[in-house]
Amino acid sequence: MTDLIETLDRFPADAMIAEAEKSTEYDVRAVLAKEFRDVRDLAILLSPAGAVLLEELAVAASLLTTKRFGRTVLLYAPLYLSNECVNICTYCGFRRDIDVARSTLAPETVEKEAIYLIDQGFKHLLLVSGEHPKWVGRDYMVNVIRLIRKRVPSVSIEIEPLTEDGYRTMVDAGADGVTVYQEVYDRKLYAEYHTHGPKKNYDDRLGAPSRAARARVRRVGIGSLLGLAPWRPEILKVALHAGHLMKDYWRTHVSISFPRIREAASGFHAAYTVSDRDLAQMICALRLVLPDVGLVLSTRESRALRDGMVRLGITQMSAGSRTEPGGYLDPDEAERQFDVNDTRSPAEVAARLHDLGFEPVWKDWEEALHG
Ligand code: SF4
Repeated sequence: MTDLIETLDRFPADAMIAEAEKSTEYDVRAVLAKEFRDVRDLAILLSPAGAVLLEELAVAASLLTTKRFGRTVLLYAPLYLSNECVNICTYCGFRRDIDVARSTLAPETVEKEAIYLIDQGFKHLLLVSGEHPKWVGRDYMVNVIRLIRKRVPSVSIEIEPLTEDGYRTMVDAGADGVTVYQEVYDRKLYAEYHTHGPKKNYDDRLGAPSRAARARVRRVGIGSLLGLAPWRPEILKVALHAGHLMKDYWRTHVSISFPRIREAASGFHAAYTVSDRDLAQMICALRLVLPDVGLVLSTRESRALRDGMVRLGITQMSAGSRTEPGGYLDPDEAERQFDVNDTRSPAEVAARLHDLGFEPVWKDWEEALHG
C-alpha cells in the first residue's frame, strides 16, 4: 500500500502532460502503431494532438475492445440504500450540512426494490450508500447483501472504505464487487473538496480497492469524479492506479468509471470543464493503454453520448437508474444524489444496444457451487 501512495505521490503527472502537449500528430500515430503502450504513451494519446486525431484513436480503441471483450455490454443497476452521511464532500447532494429529505431503506424495502429491478432483467446490482455508522453499519450491509444475493448472482457495493476484514465480511455475505472512486487524485484539491468527516483521509480511501482485492473481491471499480480537477493528469493517475491493481491482484477484474459532475442539491458547479470530446478521448486512450480494463459509463450521460461511447470501448453500463433511496418504487420521497440524464428504461437501452450491434449482457458471473 505504501508502495501505491509513494508511487502516486512521486508520479510527475503534470510534467508528463506538459511535455506531451508538445506532441505532434506523428507522435500520436507512432503510439497508435505500437503493440504495447505505457503511461507516457497515454499522455501522448491524451494530448491536444491526440484530440485532433480522435477519429483514428476511436477506430483503434473500438477494434481492440471487440478483440478483448467481443461486442458485449454488461448492464447493471444501482440500488441506493441510504442518503444519510457524516461527510461533507462539497460537490454532493447527500453532504451532511444540507437540509434534504433523508432516508435509509429497511431491508424488506431493499428487497422489494431489488425484485423490481430483477423484473426489469437485471442480475447485477450495485448497492450504494452514504457513510453513516448509525444507519448503514456493517450488520445492516451484511443483512441486505445476504437478502439480495439470494435473488441475483452478482452484488457489488459502493459504500465507505472498509478494512480488509470489513471487506472479507462483505465477501462472506455474498458481495463480489467493490467500487470506490478516489474522486480526485490531486491531494491538494482532495483536501479542499472533502472538508469534514472520515472521508478527509485520502490515503485510507486510496488503499480501499487494494484491501478489497486482498479480501478476494472478484471485481473492483475505481474512478475520478470528472470536473473536480484538470482531467488529463487525473486520467494518468487513474491509469497508474488501475495498472498497480492489475499487477498486484491479477485475480481481480479492474474497471474504471467516468463520472462527470452532475447537478445536485449541493448547488455545486464544477470548476473544470470536461467536454464530450474530452470524454471520448480519455475513453479511447485508456482502452489503448489498458486493453483488459473494464470501462463503465453511467446514466449521468445522455442517451446519444452513451450510444456513441459504447462503440469506442465502454464495456459496462447502468440503465434505468434512480439515485435516491427507494427511488424505483417510491420516487422523489428522498433527495437524489444527482440528476440522471439518460432516462430510458432498461429494455429501451438493451434494444438500442442490439440495434447498434451489441449484445446486452445481464449476467456474466455465477459462483460455482462447491461440495
Ligand atoms: S460523496 Fe459520498 S461520502 Fe461524500 S457526502 Fe456524498 S454520500 Fe457522503
